[in-house]
Amino acid sequence: MSEFPEQSSVLRMESVRKTFGGTVVLRDVDLEVAPHTVTALIGASGSGKSTLLRCANLLEEIDDGAIWLDGEEITDPRADQDAVRRRIGVVFQAYNLFPHMTVLQNITLAPRHVHGVARAEAEEHARELLERLGLGAKAGEYPDRLSGGQQQRVAIVRALAVRPRLLLLDEITAALDPELVGEVLTVVRDLKGEGMTMVLATHEMGFAREVADQVCFLDGGVVLERGTAEQVFGEPRQERTRRFLRRVM
Ligand code: ADP
Ligand code: MG
Repeated sequence: MSEFPEQSSVLRMESVRKTFGGTVVLRDVDLEVAPHTVTALIGASGSGKSTLLRCANLLEEIDDGAIWLDGEEITDPRADQDAVRRRIGVVFQAYNLFPHMTVLQNITLAPRHVHGVARAEAEEHARELLERLGLGAKAGEYPDRLSGGQQQRVAIVRALAVRPRLLLLDEITAALDPELVGEVLTVVRDLKGEGMTMVLATHEMGFAREVADQVCFLDGGVVLERGTAEQVFGEPRQERTRRFLRRVM
């Protein structure tokens, strides 16, 4: 039996299997994400963290199993995939801002053209979010005039601009100079404080331990161990988890 009743989880994956050209990349993955919680995916490079996030956002088609968003089975062939993606915000390692658009244009693009929000309203919301993330003065700048940390914060604002139900963050600090990591992690910490539901893949173990309600350790496409941050980091049950943590902490 699952810990949460089905309807109350924001994201639920059951027995998800994903292969690439015959190679199994996710095997029998179960995941349950409760509202207003943070789930951290940890594990070595190649363990399947990004693929799991991409499956959750329907960027990859799964081979077996099922995924629910707010109780709706999104892997059902009849599900409206675009509508599903509109309810999920995604931020990747490389900020992927459009270089020929200002910060404000980057942020309002999806709300205006995908969600049909009026320009004035989209811009007002964008400015509000920029202000909140300490980027109020940057609305008219082009991305190449910003530091990596600022660009990544803009990417987070862009993901938030569509008022997502769930935020997926894939190694969002991995491409940053060390001195810029902190400002991006502060944003994630603040979003958690505001109750945003998030699933993040990260190499920042100290941060995962601090911010995550649930930690999943992936090993070869399997969720080998899961628990509270305290459990997984404090008293890992599996030898492979212990070995991984010794190596990275
Ligand atoms: P992680 O994010 O934990 O580093 P990934 O999800 O990126 O892991 O990758 C898991 C495995 O899937 C790796 O072996 C990787 O090479 C493979 N893989 C990921 N994407 C593809 C793809 N598009 N085609 C083929 N293999 C892939
Ligand atoms: Mg990855």
